[in-house]
Amino acid sequence: MEQKMYINGEWVSTAEYAELKSPYTKEVIAKIPQATREHVSAAVEAAQRAQQAMNNLTALERANILYAIAKAFASKRLEAATIISRESPKPLKYALSEIDRTIETYRFAGDEAKRLIGEMIPMDAAKTGENRFAYTLEQPLGIIAAITPFNFPQNLVAHKVGPAIAAGNTIVLKPASQTPLSALFLAEIIDCTDLPKGAFNVVLGSGGIVGDALVESDKVKMITFTGSPAVGIQIKEKSGLKRLALELGANSGLIVDRNINIEHVVRKCVTGAFSNQGQVCISLQRIYVMEEVFAAFVEEMIAQTQSLKIGSPLDETTDVSAMIHDKEQQRAIQWITEAIAEGANLLYGGEVEDGVLLPTILANVDRKSKVSCQEVFAPIVSINKISSIEEGIEAINDSDYGLQAGIFTKDIQTAFTASKNLSVGGVIINDIPTYRVDQMPYGGVKQSGTGKEGLKYALQEMTETKLVIWNQEGGL
Ligand code: NAD
Repeated sequence: MEQKMYINGEWVSTAEYAELKSPYTKEVIAKIPQATREHVSAAVEAAQRAQQAMNNLTALERANILYAIAKAFASKRLEAATIISRESPKPLKYALSEIDRTIETYRFAGDEAKRLIGEMIPMDAAKTGENRFAYTLEQPLGIIAAITPFNFPQNLVAHKVGPAIAAGNTIVLKPASQTPLSALFLAEIIDCTDLPKGAFNVVLGSGGIVGDALVESDKVKMITFTGSPAVGIQIKEKSGLKRLALELGANSGLIVDRNINIEHVVRKCVTGAFSNQGQVCISLQRIYVMEEVFAAFVEEMIAQTQSLKIGSPLDETTDVSAMIHDKEQQRAIQWITEAIAEGANLLYGGEVEDGVLLPTILANVDRKSKVSCQEVFAPIVSINKISSIEEGIEAINDSDYGLQAGIFTKDIQTAFTASKNLSVGGVIINDIPTYRVDQMPYGGVKQSGTGKEGLKYALQEMTETKLVIWNQEGGL
């Protein structure tokens, strides 16, 4: 039950341990070592020493390490998913699909390791460039600190560890306090590969101590962070000149046009709003439906939501389970109560059954209610009526966030207008904003963050472009 951290290729004990409890059963499932600033320094120094060995690896060797990680996840798929369900508590069917994506993410990272392409520069296009020839090299940055959230404890870690290794960097990973076991499982997998000792380290503990120590370290070259806007902003303020990628929150919106197949669209919306209890950065939070189909849409939404199965995250038939912490559930209930007081109609849910907040549907929600304008991060969706597509676009854009947005429509001009005018990092035509595959560029605008993930794009963030100029005149 007592776990160890992974520093410099060794399993390390600490003086202090914290109990890790299952958010669903409340049982203690492990005792987690708590790193001090000295442990963080040891991990950073190990990563620094490992850089030379990383530099000596060929692109093919780095790719093969990443393919080996993918293969190990494929052979331990159920074990890896069960760990996620126990600690996070993501229903097993979603945890299994997270592992399937994790496998793909490491495979894509392996492919990208072989595509670190620079470019030729036409030096002689300038007057004084004659007889010069130049090219760029994409070189590793050095130590990358990865700070990750609880809601995708393998795949979002893969989005940082995969490209970091592909580019030849070393890594210190600090996972969320509620999901350390998934990070240690990854360390066990990496320990069996040819990655040089010290190139990957896991330090565990609170964000305030361990995260802070990484952000303040002068040896760390980049912070890649996925988490809440509040913590992201703190990191930005403290990180000085380090390179920074911030993947933050959202209150993603969807527009539903009049001429759509309601049963099909609602099936997607129910998944987008309630999978992983709505604790997904691109969870579907706000739906704007054209008035002609509003009543039928709402009726179908209630019917399909009623059929979701509530229960244990370890039961593969469960659709919705407990939220990550009781205090988060209390916050969500408080926000529902406030929205109703501010004029919203509660159409379904809003109460707790066997410790699980039921998937909740609200209609006619005021834009200023927290369930609409803040990131709800709970199984709550708001449905509002609109009389034009422009009204839907304006409502979605009236937000501090801008990660992804979606529109269902059969009208090509409507789709084009929406794709042009929605202020988000990605527009999904004829699907929910929750849609993502792992190689696509992914990242938000406004308070949803800076920088892109998706392997090719993350690699660009994790490399330094070096220019090499050759003078062909000779004369030496
Ligand atoms: P969080 O911000 O509470 O924690 C994220 C990580 O930051 C954890 O490892 C935590 O320990 C660490 N941390 C906390 N305080 C810190 C500090 N002062 N310095 C350094 N590190 C610190 O987020 P969470 O509750 O784990 O995850 C939910 C949030 O993550 C939501 O806002 C969600 O939208 C966001 N998220 C974004 C994406 C994306 O790709 N845009 C994906 C998933 C989750």
